[in-house]
Amino acid sequence: MTEDEREGLLSIDLEAVAANYAWLNSQLKRGGRCGAVVKADAYGLGAAEVAPVLYRAGCRDFFVSLQYEGEQLAALLPADVRIVLLTGVRPGCEQRCAEAGLIPVLVTTEQVQSWVAQTSANGVAAPCALKVDSGMTRLGMGATEFSALLQQRELLRTANLQMILSHLACADEPAHPQNRRQLERFQRSVEALRQVCPDVEASLANSSGICLGEEYHFDVVRPGCALYGVNPCPGYQNPMQPVVNLYLPLLQLREVEADCAVGYGATESVASGSWLAVVRGGYADGLLRTQSGRGWGQAVIGSERVTVPMRGRVSMDTTVFDVSALSPTQRAALTGIEILNSVLTVDRMGDAAGTIGYEILTSLGRRYCRRYH
Ligand SMILES: *Cc1c(COP(=O)(O)O)cnc(C)c1O
Repeated sequence: MTEDEREGLLSIDLEAVAANYAWLNSQLKRGGRCGAVVKADAYGLGAAEVAPVLYRAGCRDFFVSLQYEGEQLAALLPADVRIVLLTGVRPGCEQRCAEAGLIPVLVTTEQVQSWVAQTSANGVAAPCALKVDSGMTRLGMGATEFSALLQQRELLRTANLQMILSHLACADEPAHPQNRRQLERFQRSVEALRQVCPDVEASLANSSGICLGEEYHFDVVRPGCALYGVNPCPGYQNPMQPVVNLYLPLLQLREVEADCAVGYGATESVASGSWLAVVRGGYADGLLRTQSGRGWGQAVIGSERVTVPMRGRVSMDTTVFDVSALSPTQRAALTGIEILNSVLTVDRMGDAAGTIGYEILTSLGRRYCRRYH
């Protein structure tokens, strides 16, 4: 697809990403480092554009999920960065991973053994990281296996462990008792590992974890969503700047001639005399269909914005908004609908779609024209 075959305009504010990085960094105690999670193509916004901006903002610790994401990132950034693979290394890919200078997060003793066996030179393995499960029960070494690993001193001494990580399950609910339980378990794991590997760094907090306070920060924090404008402290005013603006051009403006239903399934009715704006952009572009009948947009009339409701089901390529509230002059000047901007945030769309801002971001389609500021 060439640039002028794309429709709809997705604007991504890289200055806002840099400002969000600076804000998160300012929350840390002295000596704490702020990393950045740029997995899944920087949550759909484009790692090739976002990562260099974060580098210039001072970030040196980058986290991705897959090896190819890490390899692409390494080609893009100066050599003084650390790139950590959050979902580790596939069996058989250890050497390639080490040669690319990528740091895999290992979660079993067997993985540590293979890493040492496959990547060691002069008795020391290539740098790696270890993840322990502190209570989320997702990726991470369980308590029993971790205790047993601590006994394998020779293995640990040659493993070149740079970092110990864990992940919080409930950081976006500050009052949830699991946060403190996970913090205490992680603290104990870090102390125990430092008996054997004194220089290992520790990392626990994602975006919301940063908002839980300094105790949760350890050496390196790993914010993702907050860099891209998602509110890391739900229930409080969002300290992050909005990063995305999504504009959908008008395809047809129509006056409804008699009371009738709109769209597939005839799920919603509008009265005779209503005005509807049909715009380019549907669920194939990441406008989740679950927001049908609950979503909002803002009519774009020059520099003026008027909030208008979605009507009927989101289709694959088009969506319908009720613009009856506009005056005839405003209607005449209507060019399209913004569905993401500083008022209509990814969090708000996530609410309307029964999901979270993260999924709105990672669903953003490839058919839009993308502009980076
Ligand atoms: C995705 C991810 C993060 C970033 O989380 P946010 O909530 O987006 O800040 C941090 N750590 C791990 C292990 C992750 O998988």
